[in-house]
Amino acid sequence: MKGIYQELGISEKVFEYGQQFEEKLKGRFAAIDSTAEYNQLKVIKAMQECRVSAECFMGSTGYGYNDLGRDTLEDVYAKCFHGEAALVRPQITCGTHALTLALMSNLRPGDELLSPAGKPYDTLEEVIGIRPSKGSLAEYGVTYQQVNLLSDGTFDYEAIKKAIHGKTKLVAIQRSKGYQTRPTFSVKQIGELIAFVKKCKPDVICMVDNCYGEFVEEKEPLEVGADMIVGSLIKNPGGGLAPVGGYIAGKKECVEHAAYRLTSPGLGKEVGASLGVTQSFYQGLFLAPTVVASALKSAIFAANIYESLGFPVIPNGMESRHDIIQAVTLNSPEALVAFCKGIQAAAPVDSHVTPEPWAMPGYDDEVIMAAGAFIQGASIELSADGPLRPPYAVYFQGGLTWHHGKLGILMSLQKLYEARLVQL
Ligand SMILES: *Cc1c(COP(=O)(O)O)cnc(C)c1O
Repeated sequence: MKGIYQELGISEKVFEYGQQFEEKLKGRFAAIDSTAEYNQLKVIKAMQECRVSAECFMGSTGYGYNDLGRDTLEDVYAKCFHGEAALVRPQITCGTHALTLALMSNLRPGDELLSPAGKPYDTLEEVIGIRPSKGSLAEYGVTYQQVNLLSDGTFDYEAIKKAIHGKTKLVAIQRSKGYQTRPTFSVKQIGELIAFVKKCKPDVICMVDNCYGEFVEEKEPLEVGADMIVGSLIKNPGGGLAPVGGYIAGKKECVEHAAYRLTSPGLGKEVGASLGVTQSFYQGLFLAPTVVASALKSAIFAANIYESLGFPVIPNGMESRHDIIQAVTLNSPEALVAFCKGIQAAAPVDSHVTPEPWAMPGYDDEVIMAAGAFIQGASIELSADGPLRPPYAVYFQGGLTWHHGKLGILMSLQKLYEARLVQL
């Protein structure tokens, strides 16, 4: 084993440093496998109940009327995530687009959007208009309020209560930490927040940005009172196979609004050709619980290694997990770049290229991204990224297989070691 790692560029010292953690993590890994088992059965049950058949993989072109595979897949998503309906489409270009659809279609001029859990994901700042942007919700007369988390990372219930008023129409809760160093919320915590918000105003729409959270726990946010969950198919639920796409699941009315905005008033879900991607959506969802388990094992392995070297890690090596993201605070731009170079060098695709920081659309600071992915930009595949700003935290996620995840983390350590940024 040591030999093949050495052939890939992992020195004996780095390999052995990693091995001690794998042994220690056996119990954690077994618990992750157990969640994956439950979620696998949940997906199969939904597919069986919706009578998924070979005809579902045929696809459609043109208008895409009566696309059995597309419509059945939407039923499968709805069932699996405990919603009344779902919109699952390749025409949804990414997670930000899915969130934009959910927001812009369910809000009207004069309404207010509330974020009760602090700053939303970077790309949503322009969607909302926190940073002025063409076509933002602000331009359409939708106002925004934000209640920051308390210093211990919990919800500021008193301030949330004060922020909710007659115009508050939609409350957006982001499950994952995104590019922040706050903790990710558990489904249980999200349920508590939603219950509180609904007590203040029963008819408010509670939307959860579910990116990176799918299949990490046995429950999803619709089971604890959310009206709408939103995510990307090149993250967890696409299982690494979906080549594009996003989803919105939840209350029928919320999903219908989104469909009428994605296509057109009057057309809604009736149109939208699936263009040959349907089978990958089904098969990706089928694989997603196991793929998410691999990503979680990789994240926990990374947390334990980097924590042992004195880097602050969120979540820490022992904590329970609510998304697949691992943040490691590397404290210097050199270490951030070295880490990303290691992830890239361990990839099955594009391992020979070197990632460099760049000014990515939608982000305020320069960002460095490492990914040698089969699907461009898919962050359910082993990938690492981070904005070039203090404290130089890297956000590491994905891994279609645990063994690839392990190689990636060892390679990141190898690069830091070679650059003399760590001592082993
Ligand atoms: C990735 C992500 C998004 C945006 O998704 P893209 O597909 O990158 O546009 C939004 N919110 C969270 C929490 C995310 O992790």
